[in-house]
Amino acid sequence: MVAAKDWVAEADAILREETVRVLRDVPLRSRTSLGVGGPARLVVAAAGAEDLARVMSRFAQASVPFDFLGAGSNLLVADEGPSFVVISSEALDAPPRIARETVSVGAGYSVPKLVKRLAAAGLSGIEFAEGIPGSVGGCVRMNAGWHEGMFGAAVASFTAISRRGEIQETPAGPGTFAYRASPGVGDRFVAGATLRLAPDDPDRIRERLRAFHDHRVATQPAGARNACCIFKNPPAEPAGRLIDRSGLKGLAVGAAVLSEIHANFIVNRGGATFRDVASLIDRIREAVGKATGVTLETEVIVWR
Ligand SMILES: Cc1cc2nc3c(=O)[nH]c(=O)nc-3n(C[C@H](O)[C@H](O)[C@H](O)COP(=O)(O)OP(=O)(O)OC[C@H]3O[C@@H](n4cnc5c(N)ncnc54)[C@H](O)[C@@H]3O)c2cc1C
Repeated sequence: MVAAKDWVAEADAILREETVRVLRDVPLRSRTSLGVGGPARLVVAAAGAEDLARVMSRFAQASVPFDFLGAGSNLLVADEGPSFVVISSEALDAPPRIARETVSVGAGYSVPKLVKRLAAAGLSGIEFAEGIPGSVGGCVRMNAGWHEGMFGAAVASFTAISRRGEIQETPAGPGTFAYRASPGVGDRFVAGATLRLAPDDPDRIRERLRAFHDHRVATQPAGARNACCIFKNPPAEPAGRLIDRSGLKGLAVGAAVLSEIHANFIVNRGGATFRDVASLIDRIREAVGKATGVTLETEVIVWR
C-alpha cells in the first residue's frame, strides 16, 4: 500500500486520465444514515462496470487503498474521514429489468424503490426489505435481512468486480450468503444483481408490505438518525435483549444515545461524532460482556 500521505496524490494522478465522475472532500455525514463522519478525500463513481474495473485495476497496481459505498445505511465513519478512496455505486443505478420472474438491477438502485416496483409487477420475495434504506449492492454484500427474510435468498447471480479489476458473473449457490455476510461476494464490488422471485397478487404483496411497515414503525426508532442494528444477534439471544438485560437502555455518550425503543439501535440526536458512537459501542460491549458473558460483534461497518 502507498504511504498514507501519498495515496490521494497517487489516486488523483490515475483519475485525471480517466473519464469516471470524481468528487473531492465529500462530507460523509451527509451520505450516511447515522449522520456521522468526516470528508472522503476522493469519491469515484462510474456509470459502466468496465470503466470502474479499469480504475480499480489501476488502483490495485499502484497500491491505492479503496472501499465501496452504497447508500451509507450501515456505516460508521471516522471524524477524520476514511483513509482510502471511496468507490460509490451511485451511477450504476440501472432500474429493474423484468423478464417473467427474473429481475436484473444495478447495484446503486434503491432497495425500497425496488420493493415497490416488484409489488406493482406482482413479484414476491423481498417484501421484508421495504424499510431497509440500502442500495442493491449494499444489501447483497450485507445479505440484509429481517425476521425470516434474507436478501441473498432472492439472488440468482450477481456481477462482481474483483479488486484487481476482473469482471466476474457469479451464480449464487449454497455458501454464497450467511447471516449478515456474503462469503461468496468476499472483498469484491457488486455492480449489479439478478433476482429470482415468485409471482403473486399485487394486492396481497402490498398487504404484506403494510404489515412489515407497521411492525417496523412500532418496534424501531423511525425518523431518528441511525444505522439500524449496531450488533449482530448472537445465536442464543438477540443483541437488543442482551443490552436490555444489562440495564443499558438510554445510555448516552455525547450526542450518541441508545434508543429507548430498540436497545440495539444507537441514535444520533444531533451532532454526534465518531468518538461518541465508538465509545458508546465500547461501553455497551464491555457492560454486556460483564453482565451476560456474551461478546457482541458489530454489524455496522466501521470506516477509519
Ligand atoms: C432505518 C434503517 C433500517 C434498517 N433495517 C435493516 C434491516 O431490517 N435488516 C438489515 O439487514 N439491515 C438494515 N439496515 C442496515 C442497512 O440498510 C443494510 O445493511 C444495507 O444492506 C446496507 O446497504 P447500503 O447500500 O446502505 O450499504 P453501505 O452502508 O453503503 O455499505 C455497507 C457495506 O457494504 C459495502 N458495500 C456497499 N455497496 C457495495 C457494493 N456495490 N459492492 C460491494 N460492497 C458494497 C460497503 O463497503 C460496506 O462494507 C437498516 C438501516 C437503517 C438506517
